[in-house]
Amino acid sequence: MIKVITTIEEMKKIIKDEKAQGKSIGFVPTMGYLHDGHISLVKRAKAENDVVVVSIFVNPTQFGVNEDYDVYPRDLEGDKARSEEGGAQYIFHPTVEEMYPYGYQTFVEVFGITDKLCGASRPGHFRGVTTVVNKLFQIVSPHKAYFGLKDAQQVAVIEKMVRDLNIEIEVVPCPIVRESDGLAMSSRNVNLSETDRQSALVLSKSLFKAKEAIEAGIQDAKAIYLIIEKNISEEVSVHIDYIKIVDFDTLEDVTVIEGRVLIALAAKVGKVRLIDNIIMEA
Ligand code: AMP
Repeated sequence: MIKVITTIEEMKKIIKDEKAQGKSIGFVPTMGYLHDGHISLVKRAKAENDVVVVSIFVNPTQFGVNEDYDVYPRDLEGDKARSEEGGAQYIFHPTVEEMYPYGYQTFVEVFGITDKLCGASRPGHFRGVTTVVNKLFQIVSPHKAYFGLKDAQQVAVIEKMVRDLNIEIEVVPCPIVRESDGLAMSSRNVNLSETDRQSALVLSKSLFKAKEAIEAGIQDAKAIYLIIEKNISEEVSVHIDYIKIVDFDTLEDVTVIEGRVLIALAAKVGKVRLIDNIIMEA
């Protein structure tokens, strides 16, 4: 049976005991409402480690004041069943008070790459992410931690934090898992109305069109940008936040598609903000 741990003290003790038995620890940090995208990370962690810990914590410090913290979906029972099926032994599920007790005053911040893409639209978001991931790294102290490329900028930011702070944890980026019609899996998809769910398909479709165009030889970033923008603007209920074509390492805009390029977008579909991306190796 999978165990749900709610206190930092108990989680740390379990990890200490597992490590004393020579076990390797794989860690999958999440905000819960788990879908097959999350479970792909759990399975990968299971394949590469003796013990797998999934954290489920809707982290208030990474949400802006007008964002969806209050309506973020939650389902601990479903998450328990899915995590167990994926091969996890422990769920770490602390309360907000456990993670941020009265008087909490410390934040971890990566500069530069956090100003771009989602960081530009969501000020303070990555500061919340790096702070909570750092805390979770201290508590779970894993050998390897698994992150989805669905949040490509988050992967870049965590990798930077790990390098800059000399954290001895291997960050393992994992591919995006999509629904059969192409929509990137996201816990937030459940908050889409049926018609918005249909409209949201334009996001992945426009990225796939961009991929085709690049594979057909188009290297001009502006031309690719226009293909994506034109496609998305045909859906009236989809409002583009950004479409960015950037170098995957620096997140700086590129004008020519060569090397490892991240094509990332964010859009509001109805009330729900969705992100998606593709990575091209040209
Ligand atoms: P979240 O619960 O949305 O914070 O996501 C927790 C982890 O799962 C993050 O590393 C995400 O990038 C990853 N993840 C979320 N959706 C997907 C997906 N569709 N495919 C792969 N990884 C994902």
